[in-house]
Amino acid sequence: MKKHFKIAVLPGDGIGPEIIDAALKVLDVISKKYGITFEFEKALVGGAAIDAVGDPLPEETLKLCKESDAVLFGAVGGEKWDNLPTDKRPEKGLLRIRKELNLFANIRPAKAYDALLDASPLKQEIIKGVNLVVLRELTGDVYFGEPRGIEERNNERVGYNTMIYYEHEIKRIARLAFEIARGRRNKVTSVDKANVLEVSALWREVVNEVHNDYADVELEHMYVDNCAMQLIRRPRDFDVIVTGNIFGDIISDEAGALTGSLGMLPSASIGERYAFYEPIHGSAPDIAGKGIANPIATILSAAMMLELTCKLPEAARDIENAVEKVLEEGYRTADIWSVGTKRVNTQEMTEAIIKHL
Ligand code: NAD
Repeated sequence: MKKHFKIAVLPGDGIGPEIIDAALKVLDVISKKYGITFEFEKALVGGAAIDAVGDPLPEETLKLCKESDAVLFGAVGGEKWDNLPTDKRPEKGLLRIRKELNLFANIRPAKAYDALLDASPLKQEIIKGVNLVVLRELTGDVYFGEPRGIEERNNERVGYNTMIYYEHEIKRIARLAFEIARGRRNKVTSVDKANVLEVSALWREVVNEVHNDYADVELEHMYVDNCAMQLIRRPRDFDVIVTGNIFGDIISDEAGALTGSLGMLPSASIGERYAFYEPIHGSAPDIAGKGIANPIATILSAAMMLELTCKLPEAARDIENAVEKVLEEGYRTADIWSVGTKRVNTQEMTEAIIKHL
């Protein structure tokens, strides 16, 4: 089994460097405990790269990412770069990396921690016990389909896009969904709009075909409008939700909002060859440099890396349990603090987590 991993570390802007530091400290402890080694190499991305070399994704950074086993990413963006032309902005660096690495699947877990039930916009009895994953296809669908455009027809403007999925794109994401479900509660909900859209009818057909190889996993199909509703009525019933790009864009944000705490949500984007791990929140310029950012989303992203890239699910569970314990002990960064809990900064939260590893 592979024991040495080269990781491209891209802290980015705002709180990026602070939360990435926290994740690296946790990974150091994990590497000793589980007998693996990491070679962390840092590179510039986003606004930091624009300031240094005038490009949000310098060639060297991209090269490093392609030579590495995984990329650990902080966040990019900030007011300073908001007035640059779109293709020169920090966010463009992130979009380009995703494209260059051919990341076809985005994985976003949403878990309700007992200690943080108050933070959810839902009633406690509905949110308690929620533990689901949204798997969103990233490279196809109406976002990339051709033809697309705005033009004039019959003396008025018309805008149009093409919703399209190739069979092989549906197959590979469906397979991943069933594989992920096997490591969880063995249930996949495939979300589409097959009552109206041909592309969804094909989606459903192909998911059913792939399911033949995964008979041990329960499969249900759900229309996206119904899914949006069931996610707030009975979110506990979902395990793995798999869906296309545009439905996934919306459903993954909805699922993330269930737990109510942006600083807690990790993510992974996976391709045939590359993997990319990042918290879902942005660079939080309002609190950057103060040392008070919540590092948990990034630490949990590192846990996803241990599971998916390093094939060490036990190390991932170790980190997740440590996070759960510090929350139970009452440790809170400012963003999740409530009366009666212990307010800590980024470093104190990180140390508290490490104590449990
Ligand atoms: P944001 O996620 O950065 O912040 C939203 C709010 O949540 C802020 O009040 C922030 O302080 C808080 N917050 C976010 N993460 C936190 C954490 N770990 N700990 C404590 N509080 C946290 O979103 P925004 O304010 O809309 O965007 C700020 C910048 O980030 C913009 O330039 C935006 O383009 C960029 N952005 C980048 C990414 C990315 O790099 N993946 C994603 C979203 C936004």
